[in-house]
Amino acid sequence: MSEAPVPFLDLPALHGPLYPEFEAAYATVLRHGKFINGPEVTAFESEFAAYCENVHAVGVGNGTDALELILLGLGIGPGDEVIIPANTFIATAEAALYVGARPRFVDVLPDTLLIDPAAVEAAVNEKTAAVVGVHLFGQMCDTEALAAIAAKHGIALVEDAAQAHGARFAGKRAGSVGVASGFSFYPGKNLGALGDAGGVVTGDADLADRIRRTGDHGRSADSRFHHNLVGRNSRMDSVQAAALSIKLRGLDTANAGRVRAWEQYKVELPDTVRLVARDPRAEAVYHLCVVEVENRDKVCQALTEAGVGWGLHYKTPCHVDEAYTEYRESLPVVEAAADRILSLPMSPTISESQVSRVCEVLRDVTGGSSG
Ligand SMILES: *Cc1c(COP(=O)(O)O)cnc(C)c1O
Repeated sequence: MSEAPVPFLDLPALHGPLYPEFEAAYATVLRHGKFINGPEVTAFESEFAAYCENVHAVGVGNGTDALELILLGLGIGPGDEVIIPANTFIATAEAALYVGARPRFVDVLPDTLLIDPAAVEAAVNEKTAAVVGVHLFGQMCDTEALAAIAAKHGIALVEDAAQAHGARFAGKRAGSVGVASGFSFYPGKNLGALGDAGGVVTGDADLADRIRRTGDHGRSADSRFHHNLVGRNSRMDSVQAAALSIKLRGLDTANAGRVRAWEQYKVELPDTVRLVARDPRAEAVYHLCVVEVENRDKVCQALTEAGVGWGLHYKTPCHVDEAYTEYRESLPVVEAAADRILSLPMSPTISESQVSRVCEVLRDVTGGSSG
């Protein structure tokens, strides 16, 4: 094929115009020398908390740490169960296991592939300490239903917002609904750093303080020579915070580019390719453009041959993955979807002709007609 390749995610295109700003930020940090938890971290924390329409943000090492520190900060541990959708990145399950809790996997809704509130309600028992509402593919899960279930049973609602910076559900921003929310700033996320970084957003000042101190070796608030809780090391680098502040200014524009591409996919995808649905109450930011197809191997091969990037989110649901056999159970919706899902190219800067090109390749390989 003669057409130019379509990358799965085009970070150089997003970052190109920002190189001078990034370079200036690196130079500033190099010269002041406060490489970790420097002034750039404090500034980004307050900007990001405000962006999430919440009060506190704590910069941490990565998104997995953010979730783990939230569960630790809530006092969740051995003997507790944490309800998690089986359709998520494996990190959500790791966070529960690393604090010593048991992940209780539940099924997802067939149209959105997001956590099914009825399944959550059915899974709650006397050991349940929290439910993690995962906002997958850029769409928030039904936080109205989950908040009601959490309140009814006295369990914590934690948001895994790693794929949903800027998304809304029923008007509320990702990061503003749960008792605390974990964000990843992995480079490929909607708001990505230039390396690993993560953040916790919460309205609870005590929880924010506990998480901050836990991630800084358990130092007491009044003396850096005294440790009044057993901590660990999970902090944000100043250069990452500086890069995140620069990119936060363009986040709404970047998300709008993703929304435009998704709307075009919706129009141009052939009828043989089903877009994962959007709940009418959700304002999604399309971290990924996930579709369902028959004969996925054949479709992937055709995309590869045409130079079109693709991904699988997620090929193996958490509850059937090799390291998690102990938690295996039957979850039919996610198991059926796992063989059909396919992630198409999605970037803030993806062009109209690139989306058309992807749809054309899919039309040819699936024998479908335009939507
Ligand atoms: C990326 C991601 C995480 C983990 O974030 P890291 O920064 O890679 O540790 C957690 N949950 C979900 C849903 C993610 O997509």
